[in-house]
Amino acid sequence: MSNCDALAEFLRTDPRDVGCDLALDALHAYTEMIAAGENPEEHYPGLATHLQSCCACSGDHEALLRALREFGADESL
Ligand SMILES: [Zn+2]
Repeated sequence: MSNCDALAEFLRTDPRDVGCDLALDALHAYTEMIAAGENPEEHYPGLATHLQSCCACSGDHEALLRALREFGADESL
């Protein structure tokens, strides 16, 4: 089920890939846009590319998205 492949990750050569440091900087905003039904790939194309090739960041992204959907943003306040 998981496509987390260490070799594929090692071989990634996409020049749009922003790398883990920048990805983590923008991950929260990116994930909140998805939870809000927006399209963050227009704003963060490099991050979208990175999530396709990085197991660690895509795992963080999925966990964050699940948390946002479960607990919501601060709209109920
Ligand atoms: Zn990463």
